[in-house]
Amino acid sequence: MLALPDLLGRIGGMLHQKEGRLSRELALEDSPLGLGRLPERLQPEQVTSLVCGFCSTGCALNVHIRDGKPVNLSPTPDYPVNQGMACPKGWESLAPLAAPDRAISPMLRGEDGVLREVGWHAAMLAFVQRFKAVQEKHGKASVAYISTGQITTEEMALLGAVAKFGMGMIHGDGNTRQCMATSVAAYKASFGFDAPPYTYADLELSDTLVFIGANPCIAHPILWERVLRNPHKPAIIVLDPRKTETAMAATHHYAILPKSDLTLLYALAGVLIEKGWIDNDFIARSTSGFEAFAAHVSAMTPARAAAECGLEESAILELAELIHRGQRVSFWWTMGVNQSHQGVLTAEAIINLCLLTGNIGRPGTGPNSITGQTNAMGSRLFSNTTNLLGGRDFLNPAHRREVAETLGFDESCIPAEGSWAYDRILEGVENGAIKGLWIVATNPGHSWIHRSSFDALRKKLEFLVVQDMYATTETARLADLVLPAAGWGEKEGTVINSERRIGLFKKVAHAPGMALADFHIFRLVAWYWGCAEMFREWHSPESVFRILARLSKGRPCDFSGISGYGMLDEAGGVQWPFPEGSDGADRERRLFADGRFYTGDGRARFAQGEPQPLPEPTDGHYDLTLLTGRGTSAQWHTQTRTGKSAILRKLYPAEVYVELSPRDAAQLAVASGDTVAVASRRGRIRARAVVTATLQPGQVFIPMHYHETNLLTFPAFDPISRQPAYKACAVKLEKVFSEESPA
Ligand code: SF4
Repeated sequence: MLALPDLLGRIGGMLHQKEGRLSRELALEDSPLGLGRLPERLQPEQVTSLVCGFCSTGCALNVHIRDGKPVNLSPTPDYPVNQGMACPKGWESLAPLAAPDRAISPMLRGEDGVLREVGWHAAMLAFVQRFKAVQEKHGKASVAYISTGQITTEEMALLGAVAKFGMGMIHGDGNTRQCMATSVAAYKASFGFDAPPYTYADLELSDTLVFIGANPCIAHPILWERVLRNPHKPAIIVLDPRKTETAMAATHHYAILPKSDLTLLYALAGVLIEKGWIDNDFIARSTSGFEAFAAHVSAMTPARAAAECGLEESAILELAELIHRGQRVSFWWTMGVNQSHQGVLTAEAIINLCLLTGNIGRPGTGPNSITGQTNAMGSRLFSNTTNLLGGRDFLNPAHRREVAETLGFDESCIPAEGSWAYDRILEGVENGAIKGLWIVATNPGHSWIHRSSFDALRKKLEFLVVQDMYATTETARLADLVLPAAGWGEKEGTVINSERRIGLFKKVAHAPGMALADFHIFRLVAWYWGCAEMFREWHSPESVFRILARLSKGRPCDFSGISGYGMLDEAGGVQWPFPEGSDGADRERRLFADGRFYTGDGRARFAQGEPQPLPEPTDGHYDLTLLTGRGTSAQWHTQTRTGKSAILRKLYPAEVYVELSPRDAAQLAVASGDTVAVASRRGRIRARAVVTATLQPGQVFIPMHYHETNLLTFPAFDPISRQPAYKACAVKLEKVFSEESPA
């Protein structure tokens, strides 16, 4: 065996010699890292099924291979998630791979400020030298990373392990902070573990479905299709300020005032308790904290809630009765709840309603958070950011010991300190505590709340590395070093969807140029950093999968019964928990059927707090509330990938638009198609007006996918989850006349 320095030299030399004159695969095929191997042993002509790389629904897509290349795809007919359906993004999954602006080579910024192509050897030397220099000058914790819910679980785990156990970082977080942190905190507080309890079959089994701050018609269209397949003629109830597409299709829509959901949920609990419409047996057997909760919500009368939520009192009583009458009531929420200044309390209030009424652990029930990104759940459990691997706690010595023993690491390499959340990391950049930042597969230059603050932060960093499929994202353009990454379809690994199903990514195409799978980039970093020896066993995605299965043993997310990728492929994905000895016949499973939870006493906890006013209420100057959200099922987040598809681009307006109510439009003398300026205290943008009765007076809506949107948003955060509250801030709107210059 070669000594590490020899091996490093050999790899570096080999890459250095070969790159630039040979294709990436030829250059790397024979490297000791095995970078160029094709893990998916594809036949030249075949159809193979893999999980979609966009959203957390986790549909499976059949990729059709001709002459060894993917030429088309179609939804997998017998996959338990999508059952032969796909949304526009899924159908267009291959388009982003062929985009002309793919990053095909590492790029390093020179002293003249220009980004230039370099080879992997030079890139890795710069990575190591610059970050080590930062650490020597400012301390190990002065380099941090921001990860993503878009890469595979194995990649997240390897990144988290290399960064924290190998490179000595303390702080790392993921863009899942922007979408799921609230649900994580609420599930942990109520159930003792981050455990969404449901299975998608519950969408078809409920007789009453309550969607809170969720618009599945647009955001999770395949889940909405599952609702449409529900044979029980269910009551479909939507709580949302806007008359969204889902609200239009619902049996009941309660158009509450922005962020009054917590008040409404408490009032509903009060009515249910007062009328005795609760499951006393379940409460006594399986919960704790009921008395304090009942006392808390008794003050939230329907009359008070009606005034604060903008509803009639009778509507609140009607809603309580609908919940009472349902035999199988399920509650579903997404970003309307999570992206709030009081998101955790709101999610806990939803969970409380299920605990009160015994709507949990049975078919068609549950407090069910729908996640966002394709691997948000994997990130929550295995990214090693704010949680230690396997949903553990960095602050818990027993947890650190378990991980060290399972991995064969010295315990001292595991930080005994929790990571800062995303906003705290950026605050650290602001105040000089963080000087080096490594951003992987996410685009905060577009997506961060009040994004112009992110651009300003860039100047405070001594070294910024961005690892992405494209060198053209708002964030990559700011980088000192860009590392070109493979995308979905160009690498293998697993992802975990909203219903806890572990599914498979497969490699069906080569990444362009010198782009590498994130997994291999992390391996390269480990080699060049000098900690590769620690990760000897982490040599392939599947080997890491097996390590993670070992790490999951005895945890609520135990999947030690999954033997490997072959089993996942055959089974159509497997939901955790799946400990050794599990029966593989169940394709759909939910949690808590036995009324036992992951808390110390096995009881779910009621939790409550005081509703708080909006962080930035409207006033005489900024008189409209800006709501943000998903605009169409054809757009995904910052459009980094969906913007590459000509077909998807035809399905939504190219220019940013703002929806406003007919009353506000009349007052402002604005008609649909007019150009207007939307201004907050932080920025001013130009947008096309769309006048629609789906908005209540006093509210406007702008889709989050446009570059301009987060110039306006107000940086408020949930105090527990640290999730940004994107959904409501104060703006004003005025018509722009043609002689005015653009904002
Ligand atoms: Fe992909 Fe989500 Fe669309 Fe399914 S719903 S095809 S997982 S983007």
